[in-house]
Amino acid sequence: MDDVTHRWDVGAVRVARLVDHEVTLFGGFLVPEFTPANVIGELEWLAPHFATADGRIGLSFHSMLVESDGHKIVIDTCMGNLKPRPAPLWDAQLGWHLRRGDYLERLARAGFARETVDLVVLTHLHGDHVGWNTMLEGGRWVPTFPNARYLIVREEWEYWSRSDDPHFRIPLEDSVRPVVEAGMVEWVDTRHRIDANLRLEPTPGHTHAHVSVVIESGGARAITSGDLIHHPLQCAHPEWNCRFDLDPALARATRFDFIRRCAEDRALVFGTHFPAPSAGRIVAHRDAFRFIPDFGLS
Ligand SMILES: [Zn+2]
Repeated sequence: MDDVTHRWDVGAVRVARLVDHEVTLFGGFLVPEFTPANVIGELEWLAPHFATADGRIGLSFHSMLVESDGHKIVIDTCMGNLKPRPAPLWDAQLGWHLRRGDYLERLARAGFARETVDLVVLTHLHGDHVGWNTMLEGGRWVPTFPNARYLIVREEWEYWSRSDDPHFRIPLEDSVRPVVEAGMVEWVDTRHRIDANLRLEPTPGHTHAHVSVVIESGGARAITSGDLIHHPLQCAHPEWNCRFDLDPALARATRFDFIRRCAEDRALVFGTHFPAPSAGRIVAHRDAFRFIPDFGLS
């Protein structure tokens, strides 16, 4: 796997994608309508980057590495290493259980050695977005980024830290609570401004306090999808919900609004689980939309 497969400039802000894990699979467990027939029906624009001829979809688990105003910022921290995520709790196709990847080595080679990261931003607190918050050291989960603040929406923590559902509670305990107890969290609300170029924007539904990160610099605009949209196929079908959307009606309404706005203002969309190149533009297509990949700087 390449160290950093794609880079973009958004005005004066530099953005790169660093992959932790990628899979190609039948997606019905994630979005019920992601059947092979429905995927194949949109292959004309989904292939070759986002789906295969037999109706499987690509999913990527990556961080966005952002350099803004002299600061190094990591958006979402993927799976992590050695985290217990066994079937049947998590779909075995995902390959999440006790992973051993070289994310940290590649992160350092990308110029983001873990000691140099200033800020970690979490779009929400599900296990595939918080994993590298911590790493195993001496049998304990310790913060991976020793000099960073971890930006977490307080409402998101308050909800999930009271959940009894092991799908969500297990990752919270091994990957979020240790940074809370280390006093490294900056608690924010869903409209927090990070710096002159970056701010959070509420995109609720997948979780109650789910946020997107908006980058605006020099007249350019980009936005992260988080888990509001899991795959480009949902641009053609914004009405299709992920099984794990906490408030399906709200998620659907937010997704419609997000897609329509991104198509109008031609924002560069960073799809948090979109396969490589993971970024692109949403454009009108038939009676809905499609996603056109943007491969960034060569
Ligand atoms: Zn996710």
